Amino acid sequence: MKAVLGLGGNLGNREENMAAAVEGLEKLPKTRVLAMSNLYETAAFDVASPQPDYLNCCVLVETKLAPEELLERCLALETKLGRVRTEYHGARTVDIDLLLYEGCERATERLTVPHPRIRERAFVMTPLSDLFPGCAAGVFGFDFREAYQKADKGGVRLYK
Ligand code: ADP
Ligand code: MG
Repeated sequence: MKAVLGLGGNLGNREENMAAAVEGLEKLPKTRVLAMSNLYETAAFDVASPQPDYLNCCVLVETKLAPEELLERCLALETKLGRVRTEYHGARTVDIDLLLYEGCERATERLTVPHPRIRERAFVMTPLSDLFPGCAAGVFGFDFREAYQKADKGGVRLYK
C-alpha cells in the first residue's frame, strides 16, 4: 500500500533531523521510500510561546505495514530522534504524521486518516503538492485543490 507521511521539526539541526527521519523511514520493515518533497520553512504558528521556524516535508512510501503499525513505528522513530513531548504543539525535533494511507479512512483516538488538518495547513499542502501536482492524490482519493487555492501560502518558503 502507498502512504504519505508529513514530517516537521524546529529544534536542533533541522536539516539533519529531517534526513535522519527519512533514513529511519527507509529502514522500516516492509517499507520503501518512493519520493520526497522539497523542504519548506515556515514560522511556528498557533503556539503558546515563541519557537524557532519549522522545516517541513512530505514522504511517499510503499509499505506492507498496516496503518496503525506504520504510525506506531513513526512515533517510535520520533522518540528515537529525540522528541520529548511537553506542551501541546510544543517545539520538537521531528514530528511524523500519517497523512494518507491507501484505502484507509478512519477516525479513532489513536489514528485519524486522512489526517484531519491537511486542508488547514499550507505547510503540509505545499510539500504535498510536490508529490501530487494538481493537488489530486488519486491513489488516496484525496483532493486538496480548493483548500490549497484558498490557503495563505505566503508564510511557506522553499528551503531546499
Ligand atoms: P501533532 O502532530 O498534532 O502536533 P502529536 O504528534 O503530539 O500531535 O500527536 C498526538 C497523537 O495523535 C499521537 O499520539 C497519535 O496517536 C495521534 N494521531 C491520530 N491520528 C494521527 C495521524 N494521522 N498521524 C499522527 N498522529 C496521529
Ligand atoms: Mg504528530
